[in-house]
Amino acid sequence: MRPTDVIDVAAAAAPCGLRPATAPGPAPAAAATEGWVHSTETCGAVDGPGIRYVLFLSGCPLRCAYCHNPDTWHRHDGTLTSVADVLTDIGRYRGFIQARGGVTLSGGEPLTQPRFVKALLRGCKEMGLHTALDTSGYLGAKVDDEMMADLDLVLLDIKAFSEKTYRRLTGAELKPTLDFARRLAAIGKPIVLRYVLVPGWTDQPAEIESLAAFAARLGNVQRVDVLPFHQMGSHKWHDRGLRYRLDAVEPPSQELVDRTRELFRGAGLQVS
Ligand code: SF4
Repeated sequence: MRPTDVIDVAAAAAPCGLRPATAPGPAPAAAATEGWVHSTETCGAVDGPGIRYVLFLSGCPLRCAYCHNPDTWHRHDGTLTSVADVLTDIGRYRGFIQARGGVTLSGGEPLTQPRFVKALLRGCKEMGLHTALDTSGYLGAKVDDEMMADLDLVLLDIKAFSEKTYRRLTGAELKPTLDFARRLAAIGKPIVLRYVLVPGWTDQPAEIESLAAFAARLGNVQRVDVLPFHQMGSHKWHDRGLRYRLDAVEPPSQELVDRTRELFRGAGLQVS
């Protein structure tokens, strides 16, 4: 979370942390739509602007080699939860996040549950909250116009910029993600582009330059976050008996991270 010097007393008193989803109580009929929730984080500081209530939904169609959360891949890894229950919990933090943050729907891949996401976004907007969607964009076609209207920001992970690298990394095709990015650009919906830098996988300068040029042309990319690969999720693969392909990969050097950020800056993008 943010340094304590930017948090007031009321905010500091609010409970924070990563919590597993709990079993739901009876849902009011008006918000009875249900979805699978892996966990929540009530004071997230890295998934969108300000302090966020972050809801991690379970289920993902991709299989990224560097995934930190393989425990979110299967929908039934989560807890079936009603929209009413989620919104009630978000409401507990409303005063706290309304002024200085908002709600981020993450995963897994939240768009594996579009009806749930749509109802949650609507409920958040009715509470006057800023909304963000953290997505690979692979299922961007599931976002209808009403959902789009209730979205303030898309945290878009473009994981690679050639079909070959993207498929090697994720097992899926790149095109749906780029189509979604172009659609967001056409309506001026803000994007924060996220790029995980993995030595030997996503560090080819020519590919990064092409992605940077694409992102700059979109015109709606507010910022690029270059995220250095790390090994903190590897134990989850081993614990589950999954074949982890990045055991021998070291995190990128600071020099490589800096060079990569410069490639995005060179295209005129703001970079963190
Ligand atoms: S899209 Fe996210 S949750 Fe899904 S496999 Fe990739 S890193 Fe993991």
